[in-house]
Amino acid sequence: MAIERTLSIIKPDATKRNLTGKINAKFEEAGLRVIAQKRIHLSKAQAGVFYEVHAERPFYDELCDFMASEPVVVQVLEGEGAILKNREVMGATNPAEAAPGTIRAEFAESVGENSVHGSDAPETAAVEISYFFAGLELVG
Ligand code: ADP
Ligand code: MG
Repeated sequence: MAIERTLSIIKPDATKRNLTGKINAKFEEAGLRVIAQKRIHLSKAQAGVFYEVHAERPFYDELCDFMASEPVVVQVLEGEGAILKNREVMGATNPAEAAPGTIRAEFAESVGENSVHGSDAPETAAVEISYFFAGLELVG
């Protein structure tokens, strides 16, 4: 399988509870490398652009408020099949359905406040990485 890069976000519910290191340990244990990382505080408008694909969903406004409520850690993960592997490490969107040992099973508080974001396909990974990081920031 090819080496891929994917965009990950440690969400406000997790940064607030000081879980950045514990979540990064899950990535590293799975063979994913954190090759770029920064802590930022999104505006609601910036969160809205990031989640534009969900603009028509009933939870969109709540999601944008949540993503702007506290700092987030945005990061690029690299590894073999990183996009799918990260989705496995994250677990299902709803923590009640997430497999044991996954980040969401262990740390998420609800279907909305679910600790992490991960790109879902190569196309979205490329767009999402470039939303947060310049090429010069990705040293591998
Ligand atoms: P994922 O993050 O697993 O890719 P989605 O892309 O479907 O999930 O949704 C994006 C984010 O929107 C979720 O991670 C979660 O924070 C929020 N969300 C999704 N479904 C709901 C819902 N039913 N109620 C509230 N928030 C939701
Ligand atoms: Mg998604």
